[in-house]
Amino acid sequence: MTDIPVAADTGDGGPARLTGGDSQKSLESDSQKLPATDSRKLLVGLDRDALTAELLGFGLEAFRARQLWHWIYHRGATDFSVMTTLAKPVRERLAEAYVIRRPEIARDLKSVDGTRKWLLRMADGQEIESVHIPEEDRGTLCVSSQVGCTLTCRFCHTGTQRLVRNLTAAEILDQLLTARDALDEWPAPPDGRLISNIVLMGMGEPLFNFDAVATAVKIIMDGDGLAISKRRITLSTSGVVPMMHRCGAELGVNLAVSLHAVTDELRDRLVPINRKYPLAQLINACRTYPGVTNARRITFEYVMLKGVNDSPADARALIKLLRGIPAKINLIPFNPWPGAPFECSTPQTVQSFGDMVNAAGYASPVRQPRGQDIMAACGQLKSTSQRSRAVVAEILAEKDAALEA
Ligand code: SAH
Ligand code: SF4
Repeated sequence: MTDIPVAADTGDGGPARLTGGDSQKSLESDSQKLPATDSRKLLVGLDRDALTAELLGFGLEAFRARQLWHWIYHRGATDFSVMTTLAKPVRERLAEAYVIRRPEIARDLKSVDGTRKWLLRMADGQEIESVHIPEEDRGTLCVSSQVGCTLTCRFCHTGTQRLVRNLTAAEILDQLLTARDALDEWPAPPDGRLISNIVLMGMGEPLFNFDAVATAVKIIMDGDGLAISKRRITLSTSGVVPMMHRCGAELGVNLAVSLHAVTDELRDRLVPINRKYPLAQLINACRTYPGVTNARRITFEYVMLKGVNDSPADARALIKLLRGIPAKINLIPFNPWPGAPFECSTPQTVQSFGDMVNAAGYASPVRQPRGQDIMAACGQLKSTSQRSRAVVAEILAEKDAALEA
């Protein structure tokens, strides 16, 4: 485990700003505000209409918004002075009123396997992580949607974090912009090279922060900017059933569902949002997810926990549960973290579980853990100093009560 400094989350006290369930909108972020010393307005994160309206209000023509868009999202400009298609006096006026800043990179960690993790510090001092996973034929950036998570999946380190807030659209985008800076990929070739794919699988539950996620994703998909197509973007949800249809209809991105258990009894325990939206509702929302076909299947994520959900009976029940849904099943070996109450299934168990699922006609790749030496693997993000079991139990109980309220 690497030693990663803890920001506001000391884990043993401090203000809990937790709300659960449908009251997620109250998790407001104030980080859109710049530090007191800089009163200029941030342009990153405004969608096309908002950027155009902003510039019209500033006395500039609509085509200026198109030019700025290109500079910010296609060329990666962070300084108005390089925007040579704009007249110098316009650039100077813009620089007085606006800013295109990046968050501070608090840590930049590189794994022996090439995985890279950035710990980004935002204007309010909160920290989030994003991870770049290079592969032969693609490069994937794993993006966070919240600081921490209000949910408490029992195998997930992020779930034990006390402080939670939504990220703004700008902060979601900043993760991609900062990664492109670091990988020197401006302008990017069509559909990227080093970053060709985006997965919303970092910290947080993206469907509890839908508005900001949707704004950021639409900006990422815009062909005149970052230009990453919806086919290369995957959103992972723990099962926020009421938001799933909207996600498919408005964004059209690929869906991944964190299933992890095939009975309500076990899923209630492992993935507590199941108490609110049980399996029957979740599976129905998957069946009716807009745009799902055999060519665009739903990914079901299944973390392999020794002696908990990894028996042949579980595999059979899984196959039965998903019958008729165009699906692939991603088996994720459990990634341990300090104090975690689970162990990973043995490689043989993972193999035979996968073989059974495969024989039933589902692709069932085993996700190779990447970046374990820098705590960059699924569920390990935002490591904090190890807390006592009692403190973790208290945090989980508090969050679960908020979810059920
Ligand atoms: N909140 C969203 C997205 C972030 S988590 C969700 O839950 O889907 C991304 C994936 O990592 C989820 O499938 C999650 O269940 C899985 N995960 C969390 N902790 C893990 C761990 N310790 N080991 C393996 N996978 C884990
Ligand atoms: Fe939140 Fe996802 Fe972790 Fe569950 S697995 S606690 S939803 S980040």
